[in-house]
Amino acid sequence: MPLRRLGLFGGTFDPPHNGHVAALCAAAATGRFDLIEVTVAGDPYRKSALGGVHSASLRLEMARAAFEHLALVRVSDREINRPGPSYTIDTVLELLEESDDVDVLVGADLVAQLPSWHRADELRELVTVGVIPRPGATFVAPEGWDCYEIAMEPVDLSSTFLREASLDREALKLLMPDDVIAIYQGAKE
Ligand code: ATP
Repeated sequence: MPLRRLGLFGGTFDPPHNGHVAALCAAAATGRFDLIEVTVAGDPYRKSALGGVHSASLRLEMARAAFEHLALVRVSDREINRPGPSYTIDTVLELLEESDDVDVLVGADLVAQLPSWHRADELRELVTVGVIPRPGATFVAPEGWDCYEIAMEPVDLSSTFLREASLDREALKLLMPDDVIAIYQGAKE
């Protein structure tokens, strides 16, 4: 088995935006990783119950356009191909078959939820958590979780904002990678 340290950045990416890109660049700049896998959730079970999530294939296409050219980054469809809800623990177990260590990368807004994730006790023992700063989100590592902060200037942007705001191409250019815009706008027509 090659000795490799992986970062896992999972998300719904509905749509991908410059906050995600900045997070990936900052994670790559830490020097901790040989590879960072972006995993597009097939069935993001915490979000799909609320409805309105774009198809996995569209989100994968957008994620590829947004991230695939970034240093150290690989975009994966493994959670899309796996039946049922997309659980991080299943992805981590798969990644540990090809690496020695996996850091799960999450935005500071999600850290408090970690103990409620599927098979959290097992996940906690297997991973270190790289926390990406988000404006307005301070984080405290939950008891027993090994967390560190990734150095980055926070980016005030969310997919929710992009879905809810009706922005033209010029405005979108400031908020998401160019290659994503056509795919995203095409999906809304
Ligand atoms: P939504 O608004 O639909 O909840 P989101 O913008 O949070 O979406 P996700 O695809 O759900 O995007 O997020 C994937 C990962 O990226 C999560 O760990 C999330 O915390 C993180 N993330 C999203 N936006 C930012 C941002 N602006 N800065 C840092 N991390 C972010």
